[in-house]
Amino acid sequence: MFDKTVFKLIGAGRTAVLLALLSLAGALASVGQAWALCCALVALWGGAGLAGREGLLVVFASCYLGNRVIRAVREWLLTRFAAARAGEMRRQALERLMAGRVRGEDAGLGAAGGTSLVIEGAEQVERYLELSLGKSIDLAVIPLVIIVAVFALDWVSGIIALVAFPFIMLYMVMIGGNARELAEQRQLEQARLSNHFLDAMRGLDVLRAFGRARGHADAIYRVSERLRGATMRTLRTATLSSAVLDLFATFALAGVAVMLGFRLVDGDMMLFPALMALVLVPEFFLPVRSFAADYHATLDGKHALERMRALLEAPERSVAVLPEAAWGDGSELAIRGLTVRYGDACALEDVSFAVRGFERVGIVGASGAGKSTLASVLAGFLDPCAGAFELRAGESEARAASLYAPAWQRQVIYIPQKPYLFHATVAENIAFYTPDAPRECIERAAEAMGLAPLLEQLPQGLDTLIGDGAGARQLSGGEAHRIALARAFLDGRRRVLIFDEPTAHLDIETELELKERMLTLMQGRLVFFATHRLHWLANMDRVLVLAHGRVVADGEPRALAADGTIDRCLRAAEGDEVDA
Ligand code: ADP
Repeated sequence: MFDKTVFKLIGAGRTAVLLALLSLAGALASVGQAWALCCALVALWGGAGLAGREGLLVVFASCYLGNRVIRAVREWLLTRFAAARAGEMRRQALERLMAGRVRGEDAGLGAAGGTSLVIEGAEQVERYLELSLGKSIDLAVIPLVIIVAVFALDWVSGIIALVAFPFIMLYMVMIGGNARELAEQRQLEQARLSNHFLDAMRGLDVLRAFGRARGHADAIYRVSERLRGATMRTLRTATLSSAVLDLFATFALAGVAVMLGFRLVDGDMMLFPALMALVLVPEFFLPVRSFAADYHATLDGKHALERMRALLEAPERSVAVLPEAAWGDGSELAIRGLTVRYGDACALEDVSFAVRGFERVGIVGASGAGKSTLASVLAGFLDPCAGAFELRAGESEARAASLYAPAWQRQVIYIPQKPYLFHATVAENIAFYTPDAPRECIERAAEAMGLAPLLEQLPQGLDTLIGDGAGARQLSGGEAHRIALARAFLDGRRRVLIFDEPTAHLDIETELELKERMLTLMQGRLVFFATHRLHWLANMDRVLVLAHGRVVADGEPRALAADGTIDRCLRAAEGDEVDA
């Protein structure tokens, strides 16, 4: 029920000791309060009145106030501890996710799982730490103090309360299994909803364009209904089980009251111990009832903590160490036995080739052949399952299992199908790789990539806000591309250009207009150009033809085109949708 690893968190031991002391003080205050109350009642019952017994009132008031203060300090301690630990976990998880060191998938959370964990999971963890630590310590300390007091007053009442206690615990263990199952189901539905929602957000344009938005909205509705159902089932079990627990505690109290009553009537017992035992027995059951009342809420938190741990402990992508020397004419990159799998499916298999200097390498293949996967591996975004990279630049040489290496990534410019524009000004977007670039250089880059007509139209020229978000000017695909190209133009130090189907979303006029500018950028750089538009091959020094994740041809484009190899390879792969 309680995750013992919580005690291993920083500050948990100290907080637990303080909480235990506070629980002990609170329990003693409850006993004191009951004592003062019962003394007063017995005096009143005996007709003695309260005159001369003002001390009882003082004891009662101090114990009552003491209990309030203890509760407030306890809340403060718990909130401070839980907020600090959950906040720290959220910060670390966010850092790992944002830096790309782990992905939600690495921790078995799905694509959207990491984000939803950082947003709402951290809150659940906070609540869990607060509830579980406080309540479990109360459960360990308070009943112990109270039962000792009850035994001292009347051993029969003590035995009745003690006998009822294991039954309550047994019942809690019994419902625990069921509650865990329900909570797991709820988590699953929640993860499904997050992933559906993420899918919908990513594909909103496409869904709307093809009239499928309604269908997808219905699917989201169905998934959220399932989540609602699972939540209601959890709540039903929670309410019912805490009602049954209350019933157990009430039966035990009734047993104590009846036994006390008989003995009082028979004159075997004095009023004071009987009254006090009757007041204290409910206090004995209070912590376990309070623990059970929040048990379901803590289960959600416990799962969130487990998922948070999985994310924080998932092995980080190891950073490769590669030569710092800039890519130059004599540099060489050899790729050996590269294999990439998504789950069981193999996206690239045993791919080997070597490139050197400022070669321009076209990567072609039918849809699904593995072009984007190869581009992502070359940019260092994706780690292969097998294979090695040997890099020789300047005087140094190194071998690594991936290109996730700061030294390599500092050299790379990656231009995808739809370049991402940040919610910032045009100038800031252009200077993305080189934030310190002087204004004239940014202007020159914009001019060189054909952005002048756009800038004339924009109200604040280079200082106009673009990207997604409020108040930003939306740009066309071609304009976004020019900005991405201007980034590359501005950063002359990055000597490796990776294009992933850069023109797939552009009309042919825009593509041809941009082509010249792109070719200018390719000079003096190593270029990987993944495309399915074959007219680019005339501008490449070399072409790799991919089919089903394997390199099926590698050579000089004109020669491979002339003897029909490219055509044959592409047609052999089932996707024949290659544009001439
Ligand atoms: P291309 O760029 O040539 O169209 P990709 O590299 O995108 O090919 O995909 C290669 C294969 O890997 C395809 O079968 C594709 O379905 C699969 N694939 C690509 N990305 C993922 C992913 N994130 N998860 C699972 N499978 C993927």
